Amino acid sequence: MSLFTIAVHGGAGTIRKEDMSPEMEIAYKQGLQHALEVGYAVLSAKGSAVDAVQAAVVSLEDNILFNAGRGSVFGKDGKHEMDAAIMDGSNLAAGAVAAVTSVRNPVKLARAIMAESPHVMLSGAGALEFAKLKGLVLEDESYFYSPFRFRQWQQIKGTDETALDHDVKLTDHAAGKAAAEKKFGTVGAVATDMNGNIAAATSTGGMTNKQWGRIGDSPIIGAGTYANNQTCAISCTGHGEPFIRAVTAYDVSCLMEYKGLTLEQAMQLVVHDKLLKIDGEGGMIGVDAQGNASMVFNSEGMYRGVKNSKGLNNVLIYREA
Ligand code: ASP
Repeated sequence: MSLFTIAVHGGAGTIRKEDMSPEMEIAYKQGLQHALEVGYAVLSAKGSAVDAVQAAVVSLEDNILFNAGRGSVFGKDGKHEMDAAIMDGSNLAAGAVAAVTSVRNPVKLARAIMAESPHVMLSGAGALEFAKLKGLVLEDESYFYSPFRFRQWQQIKGTDETALDHDVKLTDHAAGKAAAEKKFGTVGAVATDMNGNIAAATSTGGMTNKQWGRIGDSPIIGAGTYANNQTCAISCTGHGEPFIRAVTAYDVSCLMEYKGLTLEQAMQLVVHDKLLKIDGEGGMIGVDAQGNASMVFNSEGMYRGVKNSKGLNNVLIYREA
C-alpha cells in the first residue's frame, strides 16, 4: 500500500492576516479541513483518487465562502457562470465544463462528461442540457446569491473592469479607488490513492464582472487542471489568462517528464519563474504517484491544506511554514 494523500486549495491572492477577522480565519480553515476530511475518508476506505478529489471539491462548492458552486461570483450580466474540470491520472480520462449556469456542483457535471459522454468539454446551454439529462441537481439564482459577492459586483458593475474574487475592497470603492487587493477564490483538490493512482479537480465561478462567455484556466485540461500517473496531478488558482498562456499544469508535468525535476522543483520553477514573467499571479497544489504533495504560490497567501496517511494534517492561509 502506498502513501495516500489529499491536498486542497480555496484560492490564492492578497490574503493578509491583518485584513482577516479571527472568525473568518476559523471559518475558512474549517471549510478547508472539512474538504480534506471528506476526501481523505474516500482514500482511507480504499476509494480512488478521482472519487476523493470529487468529494473534496463538492464540499468546497457547497461552502459559500469559496468562489465555486454556491459561492460563485457575479458576472457582468449579474449571472453566475461556472467552470470545472476533473482528470484521472491513471488513464488520462478528463471531463470539463465551461460557462455553465444553475448546476449545483459543476465538478459532478465534469465527472459525468468524463464518464458518460464521448467528449472532454461541454459549455453553456449544451452543458446545462447534459446536466439535466444526467439528473444533476439544479438551483435557481437565489441559491448562488451572497450579499458579500453582490456587493463586490456592485462596485465594478457597469465598467469593463473585471476582478478576481474579493478583488475590490469595499473601503477602496468608498474612496473611489481602483482595486488594490486581489484574491482568487477558485477551489481544487489533488489526491494519490492507495494504489498509487492520482487525480485532480478544479472548480470556479471565475472573475467578478467577467464578460459572459469568458472561460478561465480551471476547466482547460493542461492549463488549470492536469493529472498523469507518470508525473503529477495539479490544480491551479490565480489569474486565469496567464495560466492559460503558460499551459501551466501541463508545464509542471513536462518538466518532470522531460527534465527529471521533482514535483516540488517543477512547481517552484513554474510558479516563481515562468508565471511571474508573464504577470501570472496565483499558485497551485500538486501530488505525485508516491504521495508527495506540494503547495506553491507567488501571491501573498493561498487557502490550502494537505493530509496524508503518515499523519500529516496542515491547513494554512498565509506565507507560513
Ligand atoms: N483561475 C480562475 C479564473 O481565472 C480564478 C481563480 O483562480 O480564482 O477563472
